[in-house]
Amino acid sequence: MEKKEKTKTKKVATEKKSAAKKVLTKKKDGVEISIVIPVFNEQENMEALSTRVLGTMDDYGHSYELIFVDDGSSDKTPQMLRDLFKKRSDVVRVISFNGNYGQYVAILAGFEHVRGEVVVTLDADLQNLPEEIPDLLEKMKEGYDLVGGYRKKRHDNWFRTYASKTVNWFRAKTTGIHMRDHGCMLRAYKRYIIDEVVKTRETSTFITALAQKFAGNPVDFPVTHQERKAGDSKYNLYKLIRITFDLMTGFSLAPLQAFTMVGMTISFASLIYFFVEVFKKVVGHHHGFGLHFAFVFLLLSVIILGIGLLGEYLGRAYFAVCDHPRFVIREILEKSEKKSSKTKSK
Ligand code: UDP
Ligand code: MG
Repeated sequence: MEKKEKTKTKKVATEKKSAAKKVLTKKKDGVEISIVIPVFNEQENMEALSTRVLGTMDDYGHSYELIFVDDGSSDKTPQMLRDLFKKRSDVVRVISFNGNYGQYVAILAGFEHVRGEVVVTLDADLQNLPEEIPDLLEKMKEGYDLVGGYRKKRHDNWFRTYASKTVNWFRAKTTGIHMRDHGCMLRAYKRYIIDEVVKTRETSTFITALAQKFAGNPVDFPVTHQERKAGDSKYNLYKLIRITFDLMTGFSLAPLQAFTMVGMTISFASLIYFFVEVFKKVVGHHHGFGLHFAFVFLLLSVIILGIGLLGEYLGRAYFAVCDHPRFVIREILEKSEKKSSKTKSK
C-alpha cells in the first residue's frame, strides 16, 4: 500500500515535472534561459562569478546564455570579459557601453538582446548566490511568470539597508506596486514581461517595479544575501536619491498632485494668517518678525521643491520628445554575429 502510494506520488511528481519542463522549453531562438549581469568595475569578482554561474548553469541541464553588460568599467573587467568570451563563446555574450549609464540601464540593454524564454537577472558582486538560480527557475515551473527574490537577511551597511527600505516604502505608497524587495536583483522573468519592459520606451530605469507591473502572476521568493565579496558598492547617496526620484516620478503623477494639494493648503493658511496680521495691525498689536521669517522660509522651500519636482517631469518629457538614446553600445561580443560598431538604443 505504502509502496503504491509512493509510486503514485512519484508519478504525479514526474507528470508535474514534465509539464513544468515544457514551460521552460518553449524557446524562440534555441535558448531556454538568458542570464543578464550588469558589471561595473568588478575585476575582483569576475573570476568567481563566472566560474560559479557557468558551473551552476552547466549542471542545471537547460540551454542558456550568459549576457554580461559592461557599464563602462575602467579596471580590468573589460579584458577579463574578453578572455571569458574567448573561453566560453558557446554561452557567453558581452555587451559593452561607451560609458557609465548605471545598473538599471545596463540591465535594460541586456534585455534588448536576450534570446531565452526565461530571463534571470543577477548582480556581479556575489551578494546573491548564483547557485540559487535553479531554485528560482524551479519555482517558476509552478506556473509563475515572475519570481522575485527577496533578501531573507540583508548584509549591507545600515545606511544602504535603511535607504533601500525607505525607497521600498515610497514605491509602495506612490506607485501602488507591491513587491517585497525591489532592490534584490536575483529575479526570474518570463520573456513576454521583458519584451513589454523593452517596448515601454520608458526613460525611467526602474526595471524591477516596471516588470512587476506587467507580471500576471508574480511571486516573492526568499534568497540568501551575503556581504559583497570584493570591491565597493557602486552606489553613493547621490545615486540613491536619483533612483528615488526616478521611481516617484516615473510611475505616477501623484507627487505632483500631492504638491498641488500642499500648495493649496499653504495658500489658504497664508491667507488666513494675512488677515490675522492685518487685524492685529488695525487694533494696534505689536509683534516680532521671527514667525514671519519662518513662514517665508517655509513657503520658499515648498516653492523650490515644487520647481524641482516639475523639472523632473519636464526632464522626462524632454528626453521622450528628443528620443534621446538611453545608452550607446560600443561593442558586442557574441558567437553568431560579431559586431564591433557603435549602436545607439532609442
Ligand atoms: N553596477 C553597474 N553600474 C553602476 C553601478 C553598479 O552596472 O553604475 C552593477 C555592479 O557592478 C553590480 C550591480 O550593478 O553588479 C549592483 O551594484 P552594487 O553591488 O554596487 O550595488 P549595491 O549592492 O550596493 O546595491
Ligand atoms: Mg551589491
